Amino acid sequence: MAKRLIFLGPPGAGKGTQAEIISENHQIPHISTGDILRAAVVQQTPLGKQAKDYMNRGELVPDVLILNLIQDRLGYEDAVNGWILDGFPRNVNQAAFLEELLAKLEQNADCVLNLEVPDEVLVSRLLARKRKDDNESTIRRRLEVYHQDTVPVIDFYQQRSTLKTIDGDRPPEEVTEQLCSAIV
Ligand code: ADP
Repeated sequence: MAKRLIFLGPPGAGKGTQAEIISENHQIPHISTGDILRAAVVQQTPLGKQAKDYMNRGELVPDVLILNLIQDRLGYEDAVNGWILDGFPRNVNQAAFLEELLAKLEQNADCVLNLEVPDEVLVSRLLARKRKDDNESTIRRRLEVYHQDTVPVIDFYQQRSTLKTIDGDRPPEEVTEQLCSAIV
């Protein structure tokens, strides 16, 4: 069974919700860069202080802050036998970094899962969620950044590994079912 999974998809696609379920089912850690950054902001760590304004504007946090974080996190003992990456990689530079890091760790991503949801649906889902960065202008900016920086990551994986696209515009249980059957 696949143990090293990358979840791709726009903000509001349901990556976090689905990753949590699959993480429990497979007993592998759910590594969400968004969750790690939000915790750093709350704790007012140096990382949090540097990341906060970017997050509130809906911009990506600079790669220099994210790459070390991922390198450290994949080195934890709980990540030796598997993981789900949610929110990383978010641009091609991050994807290339991950590829090199995994080669050094002698690991391979087993499966890249791409959750697809139309923009109009995403906007209404995110507005309903009411997280601090979920106001309309930030949401629009996050979607723009997604199309500009993250969509090229889909092509990156299409050329390299098993990328599977799942329709995320369905009830959560159906999405979970589709994901489970996509993870071989
Ligand atoms: P969403 O997918 O709903 O936008 P996330 O929790 O994944 O939410 O991310 C929230 C914010 O954290 C992003 O808008 C961005 O500012 C920052 N962030 C998360 N992951 C990354 C990453 N890999 N690279 C750069 N910034 C990131």
